[in-house]
Amino acid sequence: MQNVFKMRNFLVKQKIAIDLGTANTLVWVLGQGIVANEPTVVATSVDDNKVVAVGIEAKKMLGRTPESLIANRPMRDGVIADYQVTEAMLRYFISAACNAGGVTGKVMSHILRPDVMVCVPAGCTQVERRAALDATLSAGAAHAYLIDEPLAAAIGAEVPVSAPSGHMIIDSGGGSTEAAVISLGGVVVHKSVRVAGTKLDEAIIAFMKKKHNLIIGDTTAEDIKIKIGSAIKLPKEEKLEISGRDLVFGLPRTVTVTSTQVTEAIRSTLQLMVGAVKAVLEDTPPELAADIIDKGIIMSGGTSLLRNLDRFLTEETGVPAHVADEPLLCVVRGTGLVLENIELWKRSVTTKG
Ligand code: ADP
Ligand code: MG
Repeated sequence: MQNVFKMRNFLVKQKIAIDLGTANTLVWVLGQGIVANEPTVVATSVDDNKVVAVGIEAKKMLGRTPESLIANRPMRDGVIADYQVTEAMLRYFISAACNAGGVTGKVMSHILRPDVMVCVPAGCTQVERRAALDATLSAGAAHAYLIDEPLAAAIGAEVPVSAPSGHMIIDSGGGSTEAAVISLGGVVVHKSVRVAGTKLDEAIIAFMKKKHNLIIGDTTAEDIKIKIGSAIKLPKEEKLEISGRDLVFGLPRTVTVTSTQVTEAIRSTLQLMVGAVKAVLEDTPPELAADIIDKGIIMSGGTSLLRNLDRFLTEETGVPAHVADEPLLCVVRGTGLVLENIELWKRSVTTKG
């Protein structure tokens, strides 16, 4: 009897959910949970265009590659910017997910290719959707499914999306911020702006240049944002020593940055993100708007971790905002949950076999 069970397990097709983000890619496998969480960076060789490294290994190479290698981010603003590199990266993650299932997974993926669901921004075009489906299929999926990111984020944040009641979710990652109202299992209104974590980093870089005559890199800017950044001025100012290159003399120099300066530097970028939220609230049908005022806004994505962003949103919109539990994991968890119950969801997702 036990052998029959083993055999049945062996013959179950693998199901893989992928959150293909601008900053990070997360992979979930049915029965195992999240098996990969790595930066969306790929290093390729210049000569033969072969993938040399993916994820953490490739990120270490960013800005440090010799002439024979290029390390780049194949996703921009939530959509595929470099098709071939994205496909190579998906192939790497799909085979890593199959291998995570041990020998059984490896053998199974040869006999029956896995079903893969990938999320896309709600505002992406048909051409961009097609590209995501094609890249997933040619990366080794038997069936590829797409799901709108805000819907996946809401499901991952345990919002009861199928109820006949409005819920608002804001997913803010590296490249884009998506605000959406969801009701009865679908996206009713949405707005996406190509402004999120990376733009906040750029605002800090510009500020350091203007105020301190100091050139800093992307990683340093992100560090400043995470360590002392806040959407609202902190009552007790925090400070950080930062090293960069002097704009005039070209030599290394260290300066002290304060949390108040960072709040000031990122204000106008945050206003652009709030603009998307306000636009969605304005377009929301009144019945759903009443539900949202009642329940508040749920925030997901890495940028929702910016200190006091929830309070800032609450002040700007008048609707209480809350950050979901583990906001970086909501999208992949939601995508996984939908894939697990794909038969129930088939009506609302795009599919191709
Ligand atoms: P994507 O879905 O676009 O890949 P993620 O949801 O993974 O993006 O979020 C990545 C972004 O979140 C990056 O811009 C990163 O700097 C930002 N981020 C991560 N942690 C924090 C934090 N504690 N404070 C502010 N920003 C953060
Ligand atoms: Mg994301």
